[in-house]
Amino acid sequence: MKCPCQSSKKYSACCGRYHLGTLHPPTATALSRARYSAYVLDKPNYIYNTWVKNTRPSLESIRLQMPEPFIDFQITHTDMGDEHHDIGTVTFIATLQADDAITAIKEVSLFKRIDGQWLYFRGDIE
Ligand SMILES: [Zn+2]
Repeated sequence: MKCPCQSSKKYSACCGRYHLGTLHPPTATALSRARYSAYVLDKPNYIYNTWVKNTRPSLESIRLQMPEPFIDFQITHTDMGDEHHDIGTVTFIATLQADDAITAIKEVSLFKRIDGQWLYFRGDIE
């Protein structure tokens, strides 16, 4: 199966490796993709486990809003967020289809690297 994050790679060679939990995304961009795929594939634990502890909602509230009916994901901008940094931002546009309505959401996500692992800190919807 193709990865939902629109990378055009196979899921097992893309976000699937991270969802197994044995490998962590090396960059904020890779984590952003893996979290998008987790929303599509209904993996609330992955969303919870990759969220900074003091800003994350409860696992139950994450579970209630999943799976999200996303149909497209495009990263439009990244700033820092690689192995040389401890923070990074990823701007993306996620498109949802619910009933007959198509909605695009633009978010600027802020990521932090804590103990060598990238985590989602917060997102600002534009
Ligand atoms: Zn992917």
